[in-house]
Amino acid sequence: MSQQKQKNTPWVVGNWKQNPKTPDEVCSLIGGLSGLELKNCHVGVAPSTLHLPLVVGRLPAGIAVMAQDVCATSGDVGAYTGDVSAAQLAACGASWVIVGHSERRAYYNEDNAVLAQKIAYAALANLGVVLCVGESREAYDMGKTQSVLKQQLLVLQDVDIDPKNLLIAYEPVWAIGTGLTPTVAEVETVHQLIKATATQYGFSEDTPVLYGGSVSDKNAPDFAKSPNINGVLVGGASLKPDSFKKIIDSFVSN
Ligand code: PEP
Repeated sequence: MSQQKQKNTPWVVGNWKQNPKTPDEVCSLIGGLSGLELKNCHVGVAPSTLHLPLVVGRLPAGIAVMAQDVCATSGDVGAYTGDVSAAQLAACGASWVIVGHSERRAYYNEDNAVLAQKIAYAALANLGVVLCVGESREAYDMGKTQSVLKQQLLVLQDVDIDPKNLLIAYEPVWAIGTGLTPTVAEVETVHQLIKATATQYGFSEDTPVLYGGSVSDKNAPDFAKSPNINGVLVGGASLKPDSFKKIIDSFVSN
């Protein structure tokens, strides 16, 4: 495994989750990102599905619009009440979709079979996929992080997606929204494992692996320096444009 700094352009992705409440608040979040110049860094923003059309075309040029989820039962239109398909997301201007976030796994029991379907439909619609993986606190405490991740990454053996359309986000469940993070060295080790595992399923060792979980403008510079941390997936801090911009700056200046 190469210890060299990856030459990949880093990614900083903001996951707004079920925020904010009103269209006006969405517009002020977007306004807070004005003036952002994308140099040496890919940036993505994932608003709620409802707010996607509001965000498309209003973000500073070059920011990728991402969806937070996609229908697993159909890739197109049809009788699937409440669902939103990959084709619909693409037609509305999304270019990526987050799949397998721990909140979806926990609240909607999403397993590898469901996630493989979602990835397949995303690939058919030419959407990029941000695949989230991560262990629970219990698994971390028991030293089972690697086995949990290997099981979650098995989904990659069943999917047919252009490697350039895949990002993997390592998000320890216990770090999400808690202010806790693993050490940079721990993340580095896990990312090496993820890259090595991805190669077993035909993906490149250069597959970008992002870290997610309580990333802030304070800790981002440390993550940005690390060779195998190819960016970050940011929840809470992405709702504060100034912090989000500082996080982007950390990766631009590395
Ligand atoms: C997330 O849920 O993807 C996330 C990383 O959240 P936070 O940054 O708030 O921990």
